[in-house]
Amino acid sequence: MSYDLTDEQRLFRDTVRRLAHERVEPRAAEIDASGAYPLDVYQLFQEYGLLGLAMPEAYGGGGADLLTLAIAIEEVARVCATSSLIIAAQHLGAMPLMLAGTPAQKERFLLPIASGEHMAAFALTEPEAGSDAAAARTRAEPEPGGGYSLTGQKVFITNGGLADTTVVFAATGDRTGAAAMSAFVVDKDMPGFSVGRVEKKLGIRGSQTAELRFDHVHLEADRLLGQEGDGFKIAMRTLDRTRLGIAAQALGIAQGAFDLAFAHVRGRRQFGRALTEFQGLQWTLADLALQIEASRQLLYRASEVVEQAGFAIDSSREVTRLSAMAKLQCSDTAMRVTTEAVQLFGGYGYIEDYPVARMMRDAKITQIYEGTNQVQRIVIFRNLEADA
Ligand SMILES: Cc1cc2nc3c(=O)[nH]c(=O)nc-3n(C[C@H](O)[C@H](O)[C@H](O)COP(=O)(O)OP(=O)(O)OC[C@H]3O[C@@H](n4cnc5c(N)ncnc54)[C@H](O)[C@@H]3O)c2cc1C
Repeated sequence: MSYDLTDEQRLFRDTVRRLAHERVEPRAAEIDASGAYPLDVYQLFQEYGLLGLAMPEAYGGGGADLLTLAIAIEEVARVCATSSLIIAAQHLGAMPLMLAGTPAQKERFLLPIASGEHMAAFALTEPEAGSDAAAARTRAEPEPGGGYSLTGQKVFITNGGLADTTVVFAATGDRTGAAAMSAFVVDKDMPGFSVGRVEKKLGIRGSQTAELRFDHVHLEADRLLGQEGDGFKIAMRTLDRTRLGIAAQALGIAQGAFDLAFAHVRGRRQFGRALTEFQGLQWTLADLALQIEASRQLLYRASEVVEQAGFAIDSSREVTRLSAMAKLQCSDTAMRVTTEAVQLFGGYGYIEDYPVARMMRDAKITQIYEGTNQVQRIVIFRNLEADA
């Protein structure tokens, strides 16, 4: 198995890098300052086929592999973490459909997501069910005439209130916990579906994060993904794949902050010398470059391994373990590199006019969402005995 980039992937990386530099970077500070969702960037990515990049060609996607998707997210995150989340969140919302949708469900729901005509979201987290996702209380009760009635609340949902299509996880039947959970496709305009609080955040401010409420939302039976009780498995296998996107986002943030900090210390003189002439800073830069490269190698390898698994609903322990490792490693690297980058800028690093302050705030979320880094350690541990 090789995870060197092919010529095609290198060409693609350079194209996305140029696009990000020319069209996204000039918007990044304003997106952060206003906190407004950058619909123009969504439309730009739609135009360039980045929203459905790694979705099947048969359903209008780009058919690219997960490494190519990681490269796209990484390149955009180098200049704007919020914008990179547009690509990652679309993939997250689509993944349950890719894993468990019937051909008819894919035709109906995945096709418009892959083209970008519909924005997607993934709604698992609840006020009392974050890390312990199986404790979700949202329920889908069978209705006498067929279908389900969905009632409950989700919080912190990326694209919440904007997404046309949301995959919502809810308990069905008499069982409780993971065994009870089922996955449903919910449309934005369904009666009983409303948007609550829209969160104000430390970072990724242009991404909309909202509370969703469901009050007896009627769902036809054909909105159930897989069988009743498959929901938890669908959610976990989704995260096995999409955590790579968060890892890529984190890696891009780290690389972007490193590049800025390196350029700054090379150009800045104190004590009559360039700052890079001080060994203390040389060692810091060497350590950061090492962390970034090690993180990239892990992410690219994990992307290859997860890609091989395809859209199979049963992942191997290696798939689950490696994607959790990549997310943990890349996000810790992002936090470390961005914090050091602020330090290397000195007082300027603390001023909002310089992007490294924003990058440090943006980096933090990568240690929290799609499972906190404590949860990644739990996942890694549980999947350790794989090769024993
Ligand atoms: C900006 C943003 C976007 C998000 N987007 C989405 C989305 O699109 N869809 C979605 O479903 N969710 C989303 N989330 C939710 C996110 O995944 C959760 O916030 C996260 O999983 C943590 O859950 P929690 O906030 O309830 O924290 P808690 O579970 O309450 O955790 C609090 C602390 O305790 C630690 N902890 C918990 N259990 C253990 C344990 N067993 N051992 C050790 N430590 C533990 C955690 O690591 C954390 O440090 C988003 C969150 C944010 C902030």
